[in-house]
Amino acid sequence: MFDPTALARPNIVRLKPYSSAREDFVGVAEVYLDANENSLGSPVDPPLNRYPDPRQTELKRLLAARDGVPADSIFVGNGSDEVIDLLIRVFCEPRVDEILICPPTYGIYRVAADVNDVAVREVPLTSDFQLDVDRIVAEVTSKTKLIFICSPNNPTGNLMGMEEIVTLASGTDRIVVVDEAYIDFAQGGSMVGRLVRFPNVVVLRTLSKAYGLAAARVGIGYGDPALIALLEKAKPPYNVSGLAQAAAVEALRAKDDVNEFVRELRRNRERLRSELEKMRVVETVFPSDANFLLVRVTDSAELYRSLIGRGIVVRDRSREFGCENCLRITVGNSLENQRLIDAIKEYSQEAAG
Ligand SMILES: *Cc1c(COP(=O)(O)O)cnc(C)c1O
Repeated sequence: MFDPTALARPNIVRLKPYSSAREDFVGVAEVYLDANENSLGSPVDPPLNRYPDPRQTELKRLLAARDGVPADSIFVGNGSDEVIDLLIRVFCEPRVDEILICPPTYGIYRVAADVNDVAVREVPLTSDFQLDVDRIVAEVTSKTKLIFICSPNNPTGNLMGMEEIVTLASGTDRIVVVDEAYIDFAQGGSMVGRLVRFPNVVVLRTLSKAYGLAAARVGIGYGDPALIALLEKAKPPYNVSGLAQAAAVEALRAKDDVNEFVRELRRNRERLRSELEKMRVVETVFPSDANFLLVRVTDSAELYRSLIGRGIVVRDRSREFGCENCLRITVGNSLENQRLIDAIKEYSQEAAG
């Protein structure tokens, strides 16, 4: 049986967590003099003088209902970036353990490992940006605690094959972290429904993309309750602010708005793709299950600068493994996409003339 405490750092397993005022007393009272809050109120409206729910109960209840998982399988973080950092801190002994990543992929995995002085092993994606499962399994050592998979992958945009993810998850006793930040834009492909069969899998989600709450910082980790309990133990007590929790609850209730965002962004993505594919300076528009397109052009540095000169910022990913001359372009609203297309046309004509 999978036992996450056997993989965790011993100091974390032993850790007696901080017990906040909001956890020491559970129930309803008339007078709260337990948390050194400002009892007179708050200069802002709505007032923020009381500490937020450290367990994010209401938010977890809504997520549990949305995703069909029990609330004790859910961790909420200050963005998924916090969940990534916590996973590394809970499972990886600095200067001893390591993580495994599959470039080109999300840069935070490496940075979070570097901050924690944890080594990073790399197994590149295949030429069609899929998992090389045999090589990943072969590269895993007793020091490898976490394997980070990103699906749909940033910056390439594609889903990883479900069969490969499942083969990897069942072929290793390490923790497989599947980052599904962009899954709302994909059709299917989520591991959340398969968590019961794979207790060594942690799925990451975020409200920063499809739910439009990037500024609120709300990220979610789904996993085996014993593993989630380790993250809960190690987190800062009030890691998700009251403002963020309230915004998240509101966004999760606005299901129709979010569905409409997703439909429109996917439409815009395919329109943008077909426009880009007509451009002379565009060599490849890679398949995307996300809200961005990875685009290979004739000269990424030159096009990038030219777009900046026209007031348009995209992401230069040309130095990432396998992404030579590639720009990552977020799908905008119709007006933004049209400006981008016009700018690339102008650049094309200048480059030709
Ligand atoms: C945007 C993104 C996230 C989201 O991070 P937050 O901290 O939740 O905003 C996570 N993973 C990937 C791959 C991303 O691109």
